Amino acid sequence: MTRSDPAPATAGDVGPERPPRLLVVEDERHLAAGLKLNFELEGYDVDMAASARQAATFLLQRVSGYDAIILDVMLPDTDGFQLCRRLRESGNFTPVLMLTACGTTEDRVTGLEVGADDYLVKPFELSELLARVRSMLRRCTWERSSQGAELTMDLTFGTARIDFDRQLAYMSGEEVQLTRLEFSLLRYLAEHPERVLSRQELQKHVWKLTNYPNTRMVDNFIMRLRRHFEPNPRLPVHFIAVRGAGYKFIPDPARAKG
Ligand code: CA
Repeated sequence: MTRSDPAPATAGDVGPERPPRLLVVEDERHLAAGLKLNFELEGYDVDMAASARQAATFLLQRVSGYDAIILDVMLPDTDGFQLCRRLRESGNFTPVLMLTACGTTEDRVTGLEVGADDYLVKPFELSELLARVRSMLRRCTWERSSQGAELTMDLTFGTARIDFDRQLAYMSGEEVQLTRLEFSLLRYLAEHPERVLSRQELQKHVWKLTNYPNTRMVDNFIMRLRRHFEPNPRLPVHFIAVRGAGYKFIPDPARAKG
């Protein structure tokens, strides 16, 4: 059996660094054990819940969430439909695949109405379940990336994308938390690309200061932008210091050289 060791996951982390994480809510013990084993063999990180109550506990504990939930309709406490509805009402849009006991149209419709993404009728082939889960995760990744592409970004440089109006910043697809002043400095730099800007000019326009008390302030902020957005903050290519003059923002270093 070859399985890579799961990397420690951090909150909000999605990507190839950690295996996809599933929550399987199924009260039939034999089926649950079989699902756990097979998902783990496929490389998933799996939590098993035998009731809606247990599922709710897992959902609260896992702050970084799940990549998908496999949800049986018939549970000992609440039914899977209600659990799914509550999940959606609480703003959780993790993909849900429902396992329905009877393949009636009514069940399928109910499942989709309460916000399930897919369903599978019991008894099912394990290979089909695995294929459905894979395609659900793939679809989810596509939607995330196409949503990102539709955002109109005010500024892109390197792998950084910035939306100033909504105060959103991304580096290599990961959201970066910037303070209001960091956004203001970045915006001013972006409005004056490839131009040497003195510390005084930056203090005046970004910080609205006129008496220039402490010039290290600008340097500290530039250092923070480098840490956020430079591939190598020690060898900056975008936020360039110009000795004795100030700083220069280079959105496209390759073009600027040529
Ligand atoms: Ca059941």
